[in-house]
Formats: sequence, C-alpha cells, structure tokens
Amino acid sequence: MKSHRKELWFDIPERRMLINITPAVQEELEKSGIKEGLCLVNAMHITASVFINDDESGLHQDFEDWLEKLAPEKPHSQYRHNTYEDNGDAHLKRTIMGREVVVAITDGKLDFGPWEQIFYGEFDGKRRKRVLLKIIGE
Ligand code: ZN
Repeated sequence: MKSHRKELWFDIPERRMLINITPAVQEELEKSGIKEGLCLVNAMHITASVFINDDESGLHQDFEDWLEKLAPEKPHSQYRHNTYEDNGDAHLKRTIMGREVVVAITDGKLDFGPWEQIFYGEFDGKRRKRVLLKIIGE
C-alpha cells in the first residue's frame, strides 16, 4: 500500500472565508500516483472546517447567514469561552460544518457525486492555519 501526506497552508486575511481546495487535493492525488484508495482531508485547527458541497456563491452566502444565526460572532461577551480570546463562535461553527471529509479514489480521480467540491471553511482567520491530506491506496 502507498501513502502520501501533505499539509496545505492558509493565511486568510478575513475572519471568515470559504475556499474551494479541490484543485489542490487533485494535484496531490496526481503526485501520489495512487489509483485506487481513499483520500482524507481534515482541518488541523478547532476553528476551521473541511466539508463537501456545491461551489455556488449564493449557497456560500447562505452558509454564512445560517451560521451567523446559529452561532453569531457578536457580541463576543455571549460566549463563556471568550475570556482571553474572541472566537467562541468559531469553535461552534467548526463543529457544525465538520472536521474532515473522506473521498474515494477510483482510477486516479476523486470519485465525487454531481457538483461535489471540497471546501476549507475558515471561521477565525488572519493567521496561518493548515489542512492535512492523507492519501492511501495502490
Ligand atoms: Zn478559542
């Protein structure tokens, strides 16, 4: 069995942003040479997510609005977590949107359903953070 590991680094200038990381994952899959297997993609931080959905701008704004209803950023004082930091909302948003995805690899390609794309969801940016890729198979 072959194994390929890569960290993708981000330094998002905004507090929140969604980024389509599918091209970067595909590039690593090609480098790995693996044709049949599994690809794990996970956020390595507790205030960021990796999830799969559609790359459509209206939907991305809907996610932002929905998450702000569920776990509004402000006022910062509403979260017990916010003593020496202000990212209580970002921990909750990460939990809702998830930590990781696993995608099947078939014939050297990410075996997606219709419109599926992999996203990095940043909920407390303005600093360097990373995503782990682990690809295993033959
Ligand atoms: Zn925190």
